[in-house]
Amino acid sequence: MVGAGKSKHGAGGRGSARVASPRERLQEILRILARTYPHAHCELDFSTPLELLVATILSAQCTDARVNQVTQSLFRKYRSAADFAGADPDTFEEEIRSTGFFRNKAKNIRACCQKLVRDFGGAVPRTMDELVTLPGVGRKTANILLYNAYGVPGFGVDTHVVRVTNRLGLVDTEDPEKIEAAICALLPAAEWGQATHRFIFHGRRTCHARQPDCPGCCVRAICRWPEKR
Ligand code: SF4
Repeated sequence: MVGAGKSKHGAGGRGSARVASPRERLQEILRILARTYPHAHCELDFSTPLELLVATILSAQCTDARVNQVTQSLFRKYRSAADFAGADPDTFEEEIRSTGFFRNKAKNIRACCQKLVRDFGGAVPRTMDELVTLPGVGRKTANILLYNAYGVPGFGVDTHVVRVTNRLGLVDTEDPEKIEAAICALLPAAEWGQATHRFIFHGRRTCHARQPDCPGCCVRAICRWPEKR
């Protein structure tokens, strides 16, 4: 569901306020979020597509601040896909242990980089179809990579985007692929990447999972969450 506003007098009625279309409503929300978070950006530290790929895999169930602490030394030691592919499993697990779920993440990063070496000449591919063939890479990670590493339009749906878009009444589903499709259908491709950052910034700074700061929220007036405070 991508909702429209309710008119006091009914849509199209004489003297009624015009009902905002779903597209207009989304754009209004994004305009307000852009004013509130003008510098919204990817908060993972990276200097190459490979570093962003590794950092994004590490960021599952972990804060970006913690990932940035870990990758500071990790990226000095492992500089290429071949380096990660050949990492000693036990040593690598220890190096990323503090990001949580470290066994699975270590396995995915090594397998992912082995595939990069084997099938892509050690480079991170630039298309969704190729990226999602990599172990540990789903559409969220692929979209984040495409936009932040290559400037290719992509709308990444993480846990913050799921929560914020649902509470605002922009969608009515927890399925990330359906949310991605619904939002992308309403926005020009050039805006997908920034929209991702703005929803994530709002989710991290205001619309927290527990105890969202509704009284201080910039889009409170048009938020449709019945439980908003
Ligand atoms: S009013 Fe509350 S629930 Fe709605 S977007 Fe703002 S913080 Fe989130």
